[in-house]
Amino acid sequence: MRRKDFLVFIFLTILIVISLAYWLSYIEIPKYSKRFIRLENVDKEKYDYVKRITNNPIFKNNKVEFYVDFINWQSTVDIRGNIFINYGTLNSPCLDFTIYHELGHLQDGVRDDQIKADYFSVAVLGPDKTFDCVMWLFNRSKGRLGWYTRLDVYARLFAIKNGLKSKEDFERYMTNDMLKE
Ligand SMILES: [Zn+2]
Repeated sequence: MRRKDFLVFIFLTILIVISLAYWLSYIEIPKYSKRFIRLENVDKEKYDYVKRITNNPIFKNNKVEFYVDFINWQSTVDIRGNIFINYGTLNSPCLDFTIYHELGHLQDGVRDDQIKADYFSVAVLGPDKTFDCVMWLFNRSKGRLGWYTRLDVYARLFAIKNGLKSKEDFERYMTNDMLKE
């Protein structure tokens, strides 16, 4: 009986020590996990380049923070005005497109309208470069996109080629086209 109590005591002590170590390792909670590092700390030159793009007067929101994302193959944006650039994209010829597109998402009324976000790139870089970069992004996905997202990509490519500026534009175009037949 005493021996059993002792073993329970040892077991509980080990458990408490492990929990304490686990808890202590989380005491310094960073703003973001190591997956994200501020762009200026990764590549100062690219940071200055990206900041120059941000200063384009077509963007109303200039209070944007840039992070490098070392895991996700796509670049993303959050509602707080942070842009997460995929590391591979940082060193690609489509960095400018990516920045225009993601900054586009942060403008009023764009949200998840990919066609509207693309249009910010079209306005500055032109339809050909934007088209090539959406294709480039599609190829980068290496089949990781679901069929719905694939349809979204086709819609984006079609919209760029035909000068459509938003999802509503695209839907209107498709509906009118179908009604004509
Ligand atoms: Zn997007």
